[in-house]
Amino acid sequence: MARFCPECGTSTFKREDGGRPRDVCPACGWVQYARVAVGVGALIVREGRVLLVERGIPPVGRWTLPSGWIEQEDTLEGAVIREVWEETGLHCQPVGLICLRNMPRERQNELYACFLCEVDPAVEPVPDGVESTQARFVDPAEFDALDLSVFSRYVIEQYQTRRPRPWPARADVPLPGALVLAAF
Ligand SMILES: [Zn+2]
Repeated sequence: MARFCPECGTSTFKREDGGRPRDVCPACGWVQYARVAVGVGALIVREGRVLLVERGIPPVGRWTLPSGWIEQEDTLEGAVIREVWEETGLHCQPVGLICLRNMPRERQNELYACFLCEVDPAVEPVPDGVESTQARFVDPAEFDALDLSVFSRYVIEQYQTRRPRPWPARADVPLPGALVLAAF
């Protein structure tokens, strides 16, 4: 629900649009369609250990794959490179998409795209001390002892078990500026 237009600040009203009532701005015509939030995560494996971060922001203390929300101008790959850099100090190279999660929530419809990524094997991760309070390659034998995100663990274990071929970014897309991750 948007009580005020995010474009011009005018109070909205409800109007039937596409079979449901939507918040509409009487001044500029803005319409509230679905609110969508897109996140990205990175699976980075080094000699059987997985790069994890301990969150410094809520839920504090939870361990997850390096993850974050995309910005307006981001491609998914650009976002994952930035988030890994911010949370671990590592420059990563996305290999391809391994998992897409869709979670419709009341506030927003969430998408989370997880990429297999590679990093320089000689460089050690360093947490930024804000978003991440620890960043290190963790042996799966340690998972039970950590407050590890259920979904991060699911992605890690499914990937390690099934070893799918990631969907790479296509270089032959006839749309400038479009990132296309495809099974073909
Ligand atoms: Zn408006």
